[in-house]
Amino acid sequence: MRILVVEDEKKVARFIQQGLEEEHYTVDVAHDGETGLHMAASENYDLLILDVMLPKKSGLDLIREFRAGKGVAPALMLTAKSATEDKVAGLDSGADDYLTKPFAFAELLARVRSLLRRSSKEKSTVLTIADLELDTVSHKAKRASRIIELTAKEYSLLEYFLRNRDRVLSRTIIAEHIWDYNFDTGTNIIDVYVNHLRNKIEGAAEMRLIHTVRGVGYVMKEE
Ligand code: CA
Repeated sequence: MRILVVEDEKKVARFIQQGLEEEHYTVDVAHDGETGLHMAASENYDLLILDVMLPKKSGLDLIREFRAGKGVAPALMLTAKSATEDKVAGLDSGADDYLTKPFAFAELLARVRSLLRRSSKEKSTVLTIADLELDTVSHKAKRASRIIELTAKEYSLLEYFLRNRDRVLSRTIIAEHIWDYNFDTGTNIIDVYVNHLRNKIEGAAEMRLIHTVRGVGYVMKEE
């Protein structure tokens, strides 16, 4: 899942980015509201994390304009501790939740998971298909009783497939949700990763779960 963080305090932005990347999210960062709005509107984010006080355009204006442009990604506002009006204004502007600074990273993560669950068909923290299970809190994957070790990217890819099961996903869509702003779409890296993931989750005697859709991309489904 891919997240945009718009935060002008670079240390805070880096702290949030590193923490989220450790949890296997793909993260892009913008340091002002104008750049943030441009990125939010032109890319395909699963979640926005927006500071309220930003140069060039406030987080409130950003989310208001994003929603006016039919942007649907859920948004978490970061507000100053004392400013109750910020919270109200944030929710009224189209944000879905808020967190007051300073915050514990564990709380940020819990809110991120909660917002991603809300926008996903799958409401459980454990995603499943057939006898495959992925725990989105502990990041553990298993097939029947077999524990599967995944790299961060493989985890992200599997989570995205599971959240979109039965849906045909083009390579472009996969790239937009798993790889960051600097991804070079000309490479075959997605096919390489899908094959790595297949080798791990589909044993020789096990049911295929990731199916190639010729000329289009991939679909995760039970046959
Ligand atoms: Ca700020």
